[in-house]
Amino acid sequence: MKKNRIAFAALAAASLVMALLTGGPTVAAAQAATKPLIGLTFDDGPSPQRTAFVLDVLKQKGVKATFFLEGSHAQQYPDLVRRIKAEGHVIGNHSWNHPDFPDISQASQKLQIDRTNAAIKAITGEAPKLMRFPYGDSTPYATNYLKTIGMSGGVIWHWDVGNPGDFECPGATRVQRYVMAEATPGAIILLHDAGDVLSCSSSQWAYLAKTIDALRAKGYEFGVVAPSATANPINQGSPAVVVAPAGG
Ligand SMILES: [Zn+2]
Repeated sequence: MKKNRIAFAALAAASLVMALLTGGPTVAAAQAATKPLIGLTFDDGPSPQRTAFVLDVLKQKGVKATFFLEGSHAQQYPDLVRRIKAEGHVIGNHSWNHPDFPDISQASQKLQIDRTNAAIKAITGEAPKLMRFPYGDSTPYATNYLKTIGMSGGVIWHWDVGNPGDFECPGATRVQRYVMAEATPGAIILLHDAGDVLSCSSSQWAYLAKTIDALRAKGYEFGVVAPSATANPINQGSPAVVVAPAGG
C-alpha cells in the first residue's frame, strides 16, 4: 500500500511538472495526491451511549479517526474497543479514570498509564503507542516514563481560536463552527464520544456528519494520529503528526 501511494505521489508530481511545462490541465491530479490531512480525535470513551453512533457516522463517511480511551471504560465495554480497532481507527491511552496527573503521585501516574495499556492490549492484542493526558495536563515524570516504555508523550490538539468545544454543549452548529475554525493542515481536533458530552442535547450530534462534509468541501482528507520524534508546533508541541490511515 505504501509503495502504491509513493508511486501515485511520484506520478502526480510528474504530472504537475508536465502541466507546468506544457500548460496542460493535470494540476487537479497533483492536488488530489496532496490533500491536507486533518485528524479527528474522540476522547473519554468508549461509551454505550455514543461510541457506536460515532463509529456508524465515520463508517458511512469513510473516515478514520483516533480514539483516546479511558482504561476503565475499555475494560467495561470491550466489544466497542474491538469494533474501533476492527474498523481501522487508531486507539490511544487516555488514563484509567481521568485524574489530573499533576494532582496525583508518581506511582499513581505510572499505574494510570500501565493499567490502561494492559486493558487495551488484553482486548485488541496491541498496546497503544499514543498517550493523551486528561485535560492535556502532563507531568515531567509521566512524560519521561512514557519515553522509557516507547510511547509518545502527550498528544494535545490544535487550539488557536478557542470557540466552545463539544464538551461545553454549545449545540451542533457551534461545534461545527469550532472545528472549522481550528481546521488547518495537520491539525489534531479534540472531540469526545463520552464524558461531558453525554450531558449535551442529543441534537448536538448532528454536527459530526455535517462537519465531515464541510471539511471535505474545504479540501481536507482525514488522517490518524501517529507518534513523532519531534514536537509539532501545529498541535501545541505534541510529539505526534496526522498521517494517512494504514491501507487507506
Ligand atoms: Zn478526557
